[in-house]
Amino acid sequence: MQDDTADDNALALTLTDEAATMVLGAALAPVLSPGLKIFLEGDLGAGKTTLVRGLLRALGHVGKVKSPTYTLVELYAISGLNLYHFDFYRFKQPEEYLDAGLDEYFQGDAVCLVEWPALAGNYLPSADLAIRLSLSGGGRRAELRALGPRGLACLQCLRRSSSLAAICSSSPPQ
Ligand code: ADP
Ligand code: MG
Repeated sequence: MQDDTADDNALALTLTDEAATMVLGAALAPVLSPGLKIFLEGDLGAGKTTLVRGLLRALGHVGKVKSPTYTLVELYAISGLNLYHFDFYRFKQPEEYLDAGLDEYFQGDAVCLVEWPALAGNYLPSADLAIRLSLSGGGRRAELRALGPRGLACLQCLRRSSSLAAICSSSPPQ
């Protein structure tokens, strides 16, 4: 796998096309456990929702994966997990997080995947894993950071993923 960080707490990958972003999402499926929190950072169009789509497909979800931009949260019960997919893009101020009663969602056993976490300010509990996506050539760069022991375990599992190794062994996009 082509990881260009030398840090156990971080993993950086080149995702040459949309399919590669889906593969990264799918590679996250086996590392999920109840209560895991993953932040998805990066500009509009960076591929955050695509990654969640890849993850949900790998868990066996066959229906549409809607962007929660307008609904704030989409709920999935799949593979024995409750999974919440949030998108705070439309927040004008972090207090909207509290007004919408979203803190309750983070207190249970659900897996939480959050797009635009910074827009909820300090109200959001801390993540186990943060994934930043950015444009790189025609593709994307993914920078994953473990923010605690659970995130570190996720990264260790991803490093052993053969599907991820297969897509990340190619050269960076031109
Ligand atoms: P976000 O949720 O970050 O706003 P989306 O997941 O909606 O972004 O993706 C925006 C676009 O980026 C989609 O058209 C998707 O096909 C494309 N895309 C995703 N990953 C890649 C990639 N690795 N290379 C090129 N295009 C990608
Ligand atoms: Mg999105």
